[in-house]
Amino acid sequence: MIHMKDVNKYFGDNHVLKNINLDIEEGEKVVIIGPSGSGKSTLIRCMNRLEEITDGVAEVYNVDLTQKNAPIQKVRQKVAMVFQNFNLYSHKTILENITLAPIKVQKVDKKQAEESGMKYLKRVGLEDKAHAYPAQLSGGQQQRVAIARALNMHPEVILFDEPTSALDPEMIQEVLDVMIDLSQLNITMVVVTHEMGFARSVADRIIFMDNGSIVETGTPDVFFSQTENQRAQEFLSKII
Ligand code: ATP
Ligand code: MG
Repeated sequence: MIHMKDVNKYFGDNHVLKNINLDIEEGEKVVIIGPSGSGKSTLIRCMNRLEEITDGVAEVYNVDLTQKNAPIQKVRQKVAMVFQNFNLYSHKTILENITLAPIKVQKVDKKQAEESGMKYLKRVGLEDKAHAYPAQLSGGQQQRVAIARALNMHPEVILFDEPTSALDPEMIQEVLDVMIDLSQLNITMVVVTHEMGFARSVADRIIFMDNGSIVETGTPDVFFSQTENQRAQEFLSKII
């Protein structure tokens, strides 16, 4: 479903992804961890071509992302993204934020987009905020809206790039709880995070990146208790 083979990515001379080989199956929950600058964001941004790979194979739902004329909008409708800083439109209400892409991009009928939007707002516990503006919400609430917005595209994959790292500590859990709830669905989740409790309880697979490479991958049980990789051990000792 997401298929990457021998992927390399350079920013100028900076070799930021080095021979990445990674296959992610439908419904899988994958957590990517690793030190700052190791290439985690770049890797997931290559999965919906927010970044282009320099060489190698990157396919999503059999669409070859390296082709200039790849149907990238179609891919992005299947592969939604939740960012660290929510990226909501400040001059639009919460409900407008959630329905904008379905209406404009997916050509969904407004009423239908609003109905499903309200359903997802309810799922993240914010149906009473539908007509508020982003600035009237806390960071945790804004991030839950961003998740509802992703869901309202009816994606098959959601990519999360450190969704809780811009939040005050007391708001982290409410967002993690929403993500734990989503993990019950059949949506594929690829999550860059430093929240190891979440990783342990939700991940089918942990991927540890260092310096542009995937250096270790395994189930949480095996990874957290048995990794013999020294860089992974050092990383874990700092954050757990
Ligand atoms: P963090 O944990 O700090 O978010 P990360 O693992 O997500 O780090 P990336 O953001 O993927 O790391 O960055 C990997 C490397 O690519 C870094 O050396 C970074 O400076 C570089 N890089 C990332 N984005 C760009 C860009 N748009 N232009 C140039 N260099 C970039
Ligand atoms: Mg990053």
